[in-house]
Amino acid sequence: MQEIERHVREVPDFPSPGISFKDITPLIEDGPAFHAAVDRAAAATAGIDYDRVLSAEARGFVFGTALAYRARKGLILARKPGKLPRETISASYDLEYGSNTLHVHADSIREGTRVLVVDDLLATGGTARAMCQLVENAGGVVAGVAFLVELTFLNGRERLAPYPVTSLLTYD
Ligand code: IMP
Repeated sequence: MQEIERHVREVPDFPSPGISFKDITPLIEDGPAFHAAVDRAAAATAGIDYDRVLSAEARGFVFGTALAYRARKGLILARKPGKLPRETISASYDLEYGSNTLHVHADSIREGTRVLVVDDLLATGGTARAMCQLVENAGGVVAGVAFLVELTFLNGRERLAPYPVTSLLTYD
């Protein structure tokens, strides 16, 4: 795990004073480390029964795509408003200042579709929770939620309490 963790760079005071941002771009840029991270995430989620991966733009797409490809599953894109061309369903969530909305195509998740929600990082859990709401609003089932990084001190896992949550790296 050290091989993966040493490529996550902590950037102080980004995007605002007092925040220690976990920058995963060096990890993605390192071939063996990226490969190892995806392999480990695949192993950690191998026991989960799911049909499709759901991930949100932009960094979520990186791991969502890799995991879906490796597991031979379909990938559903959750996007900001105005990006998807057909009918969508949406869920909104609060940020420190303002709110965000994520959309998926209305026919991406059907009654009973089992979905693995994937994102790069779990902070407060608002983003992942909105994705879980999208799944359930469409009649799907959240089979699990997987992250590369979890900031445990923000207790995001509690907001995802009913769902099985896995993460590779934790910071507290
Ligand atoms: P949450 O909704 O508060 O859990 O925030 C998670 C979302 O914000 C994820 O989609 C991340 O991409 C992004 N995010 C929040 N903090 C960080 C960080 O320190 N590094 C990278 N992404 C972050």
